[in-house]
Amino acid sequence: MKKILILGAAGQIGSELIPFLRNIYGDTNVIASDLHKNLPCDVLESGPFEILDALDAKSMNDLVSKYKIDTIFNLVAVLSAKGENDPVLAWKINMGALFNALEISRQTKGAVFTPSSIGAFGKNTPQDQTPQDTIMRPGTIYGISKVAAELLGDYYHNKFGVDARGLRYPGIISNVTLPGGGTTDYAVEIYYEALQNRSYTSNLAAGTYLDMMYMPDALRAAVELMECDPAKLIHRNCFNVTAMSFDPEGIAASIRKVMPDFRLDYKVDPIKQAIAESWPNSMDDSAARAEWNWAPQYDLEKMTADMFEKLSIKLGKQI
Ligand code: NAD
Repeated sequence: MKKILILGAAGQIGSELIPFLRNIYGDTNVIASDLHKNLPCDVLESGPFEILDALDAKSMNDLVSKYKIDTIFNLVAVLSAKGENDPVLAWKINMGALFNALEISRQTKGAVFTPSSIGAFGKNTPQDQTPQDTIMRPGTIYGISKVAAELLGDYYHNKFGVDARGLRYPGIISNVTLPGGGTTDYAVEIYYEALQNRSYTSNLAAGTYLDMMYMPDALRAAVELMECDPAKLIHRNCFNVTAMSFDPEGIAASIRKVMPDFRLDYKVDPIKQAIAESWPNSMDDSAARAEWNWAPQYDLEKMTADMFEKLSIKLGKQI
């Protein structure tokens, strides 16, 4: 059975990856860690949690020894929009956590999962059906750190035999923990605001298409990649994965199917808009499909139905 350490476990993805992994590998085999403990009580109490600054290599090493960790899921990051406010911090955290995880796994001969992102692409990249292997010239510090992280994962695999794997997540939509300052956050907020106010003001313009994925698919993708036969992996640290592509009008139309009076307004944030325009409209994820049988289970309509079901209970609001 794997012994897993999750870094950055209290964020949007980690808060749901903890129970997902504990269901598969057992509660005591999944050690969650972050700078803070802001997690739902049931998640926090379901197994070991350690306060850990992932930039502190010695403390990370101590935890890996203490729990005999063989696999690290590294979710530590400063996200795209937030990173533009403090590029020095974004670089330090995005690269520092990964470097420590890879260096420690080099000693333990362990495995490391690190998400890359659609943010790894830039405005010179073909934007429709963006190929797996293409021009990578991102214009954000987040994107630059993601390209470097993909390369670093390959480097540690090729040079030191670390079982590093990763995929390029699109915008992740979820209902447990709010997103942490990315460009696709609007696609989560819109569901909360729809239930609370029956309206939403989008910070991205109409016609801004981006790839998206519902959290259950994102969690399954991570585990399926880490469990697949490594002999079949050609790309390893950079798989395009997607489930749907829409613009603000598209998600609003999906919401109106169940809430016909929903209103969508616009107040475009120029920083987020510029970032979004440099990212793909839609990605080609055929390499992930071919190399480890990736296939999403949620499209936009199925996700909207599930988001409203879960958020109605969480917020105590009916459609
Ligand atoms: P998040 O911002 O919600 O969570 C990141 C977590 O990292 C936070 O809980 C934060 O406290 C923690 N952290 C920051 N600095 C730390 C440090 N020094 N030591 C320990 N913990 C620290 O991010 P997320 O949305 O959960 O993203 C997880 C990963 O997935 C990131 O690599 C991100 O780039 C990638 N990703 C996310 C999305 C998305 O839409 N959420 C899309 C593409 C890629």
